Amino acid sequence: MLAPWASDPADSRGRRHAEPADPTRNQHQRDRDRIVHSTAFRRLVYKTQVFINHEGDLFRTRLTHSLEVAQLGRSAARSLRLNEDLVEAIALAHDLGHTPFGHAGQDALHACMDGHGGFEHNLQSLRVVDELEARYPAFDGLNLSFETRDGILKHCSRRNAERLVAAEPGGPAQRFIDRTQPSLEAQLVNVADEMAYNAHDIDDGVRSGLLTMAQLAEVPLFAHWRDAVLAEHPGLEARPGRRLLFESLRRMLSAQMADLIVTTSAALDAYRPADAEAAKRAPPLIGFSGPLRGEIDALKHFLHAALYRHPQVMHATDRARQVVAELFAAYRAAPCEMPADFAGATDAPRAVADYIAGMTDRFALREHHRLTGRRLFDA
Ligand code: MG
Repeated sequence: MLAPWASDPADSRGRRHAEPADPTRNQHQRDRDRIVHSTAFRRLVYKTQVFINHEGDLFRTRLTHSLEVAQLGRSAARSLRLNEDLVEAIALAHDLGHTPFGHAGQDALHACMDGHGGFEHNLQSLRVVDELEARYPAFDGLNLSFETRDGILKHCSRRNAERLVAAEPGGPAQRFIDRTQPSLEAQLVNVADEMAYNAHDIDDGVRSGLLTMAQLAEVPLFAHWRDAVLAEHPGLEARPGRRLLFESLRRMLSAQMADLIVTTSAALDAYRPADAEAAKRAPPLIGFSGPLRGEIDALKHFLHAALYRHPQVMHATDRARQVVAELFAAYRAAPCEMPADFAGATDAPRAVADYIAGMTDRFALREHHRLTGRRLFDA
């Protein structure tokens, strides 16, 4: 069933701590199950994607985002005969290292960790599954397969890569030194991630009132499908509810999926990597056609300007940054305010960063109030 260039679970490079094979599940199915049962995965439900968690019950959180990425990734993987289980495992784990309050939280934590090695959410996702989950008697972390860990480490600076490779030669950071690609499955998750957030941020943006349908009419990728829907369903604009928005987004996503599969199939057929390892030495093979790539970039540009930098979003993220910075200072001054396993760690700044990064939005706000006596958010 798998294409010759797919990651075959039978060829897995295995786990850092040897474990007997599972009688019914392959390596990557087992990884997926470990991720779903982890503490960090359950916390994703109360972590911000774009909108701070308390702003409304219907906005995406990191959990629903991760499920959407897994859905899109699996659909494409099945069609391309790639390893669907590996795609699912990587997709469900790809955001485990995110701090509370989305990118604002990460930026604040990175600034706090200046001089202590910085903070980067991709690296943190790997740290969560390799070290921070404490569920097994014999080892730290979830002891995932190499292929899943390799897919989780999506970005890595040269400096961090050198540090990681020194600790684990040939590990997931090696490719940032060798300058090779991640597996086709990991490449697919990156594209699915982008498809998911572009679509759901439009949805959440309109739901929140920060984006309008009139603004979106100026974005070619969305406008094209909105016009197609209106041509088939005249008057839909005037109906109460958001059927026009949903149908336009549905068609926009379907069109991207169709383009992705056709373009990628053609690239794979032309390049014909001998196996999964050869695919990593090839140029990136998973992607959209040139014209669609251009339209997606224009949409991202629009979302940056109109939504992510919207004054109301910026106002919330400024306060979120302050919460994280003040929490960091409070725990550094009084490590005993943290649970014993963090308070007693040898690398004190890293332990504070790990503790804060693991928090949900609302737990961070409760802790901030407990430690400072102030409330920076109304809810
Ligand atoms: Mg993501």
